[in-house]
Parts: sequence; C-alpha cells; structure tokens
Amino acid sequence: MKLTDSLIEKAETFGAHNYHPLPLVLRRGDGAKVADVEGKEYIDFLSCYSALNFGHQHPRIVQALLNQLQKLAVCSRAFYAEEFGYFSEELAKFVGLEMVLAMNSGAEACETAIKIARKWGYEKKGVDADQANIICVENNFHGRTVTIVSFSTDPAYRDGFGPFTPGFKIVPFDNADAIENAIDKNTVGVFVEPIQAEAGILLPKSGYLKDLRRICDKYEVLLMVDEIQTGLGRTGADFCFQHENIQPDLLILGKSLGGGLLPISAVVGRTSVMEVIKPGQHGSTFGGNPLACSVARASLKVLKDEDLSKRSLELGNEVLKKLMKISSPLIKEIRGKGLLIGIELEPSAGGARKYCEILAQQGVLCKETHDHVIRIAPPLNIEPSLLDQGINSVISVLSKGL
Ligand SMILES: *Cc1c(COP(=O)(O)O)cnc(C)c1O
Repeated sequence: MKLTDSLIEKAETFGAHNYHPLPLVLRRGDGAKVADVEGKEYIDFLSCYSALNFGHQHPRIVQALLNQLQKLAVCSRAFYAEEFGYFSEELAKFVGLEMVLAMNSGAEACETAIKIARKWGYEKKGVDADQANIICVENNFHGRTVTIVSFSTDPAYRDGFGPFTPGFKIVPFDNADAIENAIDKNTVGVFVEPIQAEAGILLPKSGYLKDLRRICDKYEVLLMVDEIQTGLGRTGADFCFQHENIQPDLLILGKSLGGGLLPISAVVGRTSVMEVIKPGQHGSTFGGNPLACSVARASLKVLKDEDLSKRSLELGNEVLKKLMKISSPLIKEIRGKGLLIGIELEPSAGGARKYCEILAQQGVLCKETHDHVIRIAPPLNIEPSLLDQGINSVISVLSKGL
C-alpha cells in the first residue's frame, strides 16, 4: 500500500470527517510550492484559504518565530509580554485605527466583534438591555461557532446545530437599501465581508462599502468588516475596504496575520468603541501570546517591505486577463480582485471538484468552493513563472474539459 493511501486511511478512520480533502498527503511547503509524501510537487493555488499570503515558511517570518521561541512563547495576559505592546501599536497604526483585541482563530475574533458591538450598543448608544441586533448578509461566512452559524444561511453550516443565538437580521447580499431598511433603534452593527470569498468569490458592486459607511454613520451603527480572508494584501490593497476609501468601525483579521505559521486573529477599532471591554469581561488564554505577536509583527513588515499588496493587484490583473481569454462552454463567469479570483463553472460542467482533482494530478492545488467555483488564490509572493505555469494548467484543463 502506498504511504499516501495508508495515511488517508488513518485520517479517515481516526479523524472526524468534517472536511473532504483532495486525495493527497502533504509533507513540506516552501514559498508557493508544496510536496506530498510521495515526493510529488505542487503549486499551491489555495494558500490555506489565504492564511498563506506570504507563502509557506517565509524565511523572515520563520526567523521571527524562532527568535521569539527562544525567549518566551506563551505567558497569558496575566502579565504584559514584551511583544504584545509592540504588536498592538503596530497593527492599530497599520490599519489606521486605535486599539487591538487579539484572539486566536477567525471565528473567535468575529465572536469578539459581536460582543464589542453589543456592549457598545448598550453602554454608548443606549439600546435596551438584551435587545441589540446586528445585520448580516445572505451567504455570509464568518466561522463555525454556534453564534456565528446562527446567522449563516447555508444549511450545511446550520442544520443539526440549533438552538441558535438570537439577535441577528439577515438581508440580501450587495443591497445597501435592504440594510438601511433593516436598521431599527436596537441595531448596533452591520457585519459584512467586503468580498464573500467562501460563498464563491462574490464581489458587491463598487460603492457598496461606501454606501454602508454612509448608512452606518446616519443611524449610529457600527460598520463591522470581516477581512479575515480579504485582508493583508489579498485583494490588491492592504485591506479590501481601502478600495473604497472608507474606514470600518471594527475590522476583523485572522488567517494571514499568523504569517502562515500559527493562528492569531484580532479585532481593531477606535478607542471610543474598544474601551467598552473592561478587565475580566472577555479573554483568551492564548490570545495575543508573544509567539503569535512576533509572527504577526513580522508578517506586517513582510507585507510592507515586499510591497505585496501592489504585487497582488498587478499579478491578479494579469491572471484575470489571461483567464478571460479562455473560451470554454464550461465557464459561466470569472471574477476577482487582486489574487482572489473565482472561476464559476456552468452547472453542466458537473461541479468544480473534478477539475480540482485533475489539476492536483497535474501539480496545481485548487479547491472548489460552493460546488461550482474554482478559487485561484496563490501566495502573494509567488514567482511569476510559477504563477504562469499554474494558470496555464488551469487554462488547459478548462479548455479541454474532462
Ligand atoms: C476563514 C474565515 C473565517 C473563520 O476563520 P477561522 O480561523 O477558520 O475560525 C471568518 N471569516 C472569513 C471571511 C473567513 O474567510
């Protein structure tokens, strides 16, 4: 039996089946390349759902981790850690807001933003006790906790997990009027992704975030923007909200903030909002640990020093141009911003997964999202020649069909 098969068998026997991976087992990663246990090499076009904006094992980020590892890894927030102050200041300034609350996973940061918005509503806006509501958008993805799936519209995420957390209203995607109409005196937040990545790389019309900013200001509601996947250069700007020259009230980050090495997430906001959380009211044992802070600091430096947001914009535009030239009855639409690109297949193509399996055999790792969309999201620092090679495989597979 091949090592691959025996490892897959172990994973399927002893690991719960909460994912449906492509049938390969990875051992190593380096930049935009990964290798499996048989020694076969692949180009990584998924980037761990954008946790790998800086690629695998970025040398400067690995070095930051190793340096910190030799000093202090974890100490809890019972004490101030040296790295924590630096990290908080650097991230707040990088975003253009004032205060940071560090957590671990993306879902935790979203939960944190919800708690902050509710508390802000009661203490600053004067909403009646336990009456706060937050407006969310159809097909959203913000993570997997019970509260977060409470406002999901995807049956796979929800079914069997009730009872759900109240206090959320769901309106159609890309419809600022629907959001405005849903706002009432108890609304404390409007919670959106600037691009709905998990839903299939769905881009709202330009001006959407600007409209939401105006509406939130008009009704004194917090604009909560989840950039866990779109942030840190992915869409061709440091943050996707910058394409519209607005500033959110609460920005939620995760994934790439951990430099592709470990989890760290954060909520960033103005002091006047963040100050509603007082000692003892929220926390996390590992949240903001020195190891994670050092990695996040190095990641922000790499993003800036390597000018990766601009690179993402330029490479993304080139990829889009190339993909648009494919003439194939399989393709319904190609869309994206920066290096976050979706190829939506016609239903007649029979689902994106088969194409991802063929691409994997050819050495390109993509993953289907929502049945009919192939996501193209390589590390932002991928070598142009490697990017070309991967895109050519995608073009050839889609031109030929199955
Ligand atoms: C991945 C993701 C999350 C959840 O992050 P986890 O670290 O998996 O909990 C939330 N929102 C968006 C937009 C994401 O892409």
